Amino acid sequence: MADALQGRHALVTGGGTGIGLAIARALADHGAQVTITGRRAEPLEQAAAQHPGLHPAAMDVTDEDGLRAGIEAAVEARGPVQVCVANAGIAEGRSFTRNDLEFWNRIMETNVTGAFLTVRECLRSMDGTDWGRVIAVSSIAGLRGLKGGSAYTASKHAVIGMIRALSEERMGGPITFNALCPGYVDTPIVTRNTSSIAERAGISQEAALKVMTDANRHGRLLEPEEVAAAALWLCLPGSQSVNGQTIEIAGGQV
Ligand code: NDP
Repeated sequence: MADALQGRHALVTGGGTGIGLAIARALADHGAQVTITGRRAEPLEQAAAQHPGLHPAAMDVTDEDGLRAGIEAAVEARGPVQVCVANAGIAEGRSFTRNDLEFWNRIMETNVTGAFLTVRECLRSMDGTDWGRVIAVSSIAGLRGLKGGSAYTASKHAVIGMIRALSEERMGGPITFNALCPGYVDTPIVTRNTSSIAERAGISQEAALKVMTDANRHGRLLEPEEVAAAALWLCLPGSQSVNGQTIEIAGGQV
């Protein structure tokens, strides 16, 4: 299985940190050449220097022209994208009536429009090949409501809707479309949110962290590699019939 993805080009948005980086590493460890993207060049370059098979390419998922040019350059360098991981996202919570339009639009633009543009641009090259995987990193908040996170919850539901519609539109073809729904994972997003949850609720950072570890019913934050294992599995032989699905990696969170 170590060379199961040999010769495949994968593209992972938000691939310089957290879950995206763990997915990129797992794909590279199985032979893929992986383009990792994000707005900041530094984490991407650092990640690529530390792990063979990763190729940094700074681009913003909300910039349609920049994203198209960036993906075209990656395709030019490494061939058609055959694994597209739409992972880039931002998370911030606010009580519902504090959602102003600027905040709401910012979450939607990155999490929904960014995923849409990424998948659309990748499909342009993937469509000419006989095998492909599209994986969106949604969230457990894509399946149920997250208290104090209506914009984030709506955005993650939308990503799942897009994946389900795509899988219907392309059913029977060589490309599968699935969404991963992690619970709380130990990444920079969670570190940032611990502070904002603590501030909003008037509790300590330790108490805010406990809210998250308790939500995952095994009582700990997930490791990014646990999410990466699910992404990798969707790319290995035998997963062709898993299409249009949501996979929860959430420590049994209900
Ligand atoms: P990180 O903050 O480490 O990852 C987010 C990544 O997205 C960063 O690499 C960031 O890079 C990139 N990004 C953000 N905005 C843009 C943009 N406009 N264009 C391109 N890249 C962008 O946190 P995670 O690894 O946790 O998050 C990854 C995904 O997992 C997100 O979609 C998140 O919603 C989801 N998720 C996370 C959970 C958790 O508990 N950690 C739980 C469930 C889902 P840069 O800043 O350089 O642009």
